[in-house]
Amino acid sequence: MAKVKVGSKEWVPENAELFKQGDRRCTKCREVKGLDNGFYRDKSGREGYASYCKACDMKVQAKWAKESKSPSPVALTAERKRGKAKRAAASRKKAAAAKKAK
Ligand SMILES: [Zn+2]
Repeated sequence: MAKVKVGSKEWVPENAELFKQGDRRCTKCREVKGLDNGFYRDKSGREGYASYCKACDMKVQAKWAKESKSPSPVALTAERKRGKAKRAAASRKKAAAAKKAK
């Protein structure tokens, strides 16, 4: 396979094929990962997914946050998701406790 320059805006031709299988190659680490588990959704990205995998994205976000000293929109979205999961777990716990009390 021909070597392609790595960059965030880079389009990996094989991703069109991988996309059909529900996979994607990260343009940063070059690993093929599942779209749903390996990549964040990104409306501005090709096929609606980010070009970096989650692992690379987190590294980029961390670097970005360190340099700008403020969380990026992606980091904020992840934070909100975590908060939502936490609240859901808490309400489940509460419901279970209420059931027990009866
Ligand atoms: Zn990656």
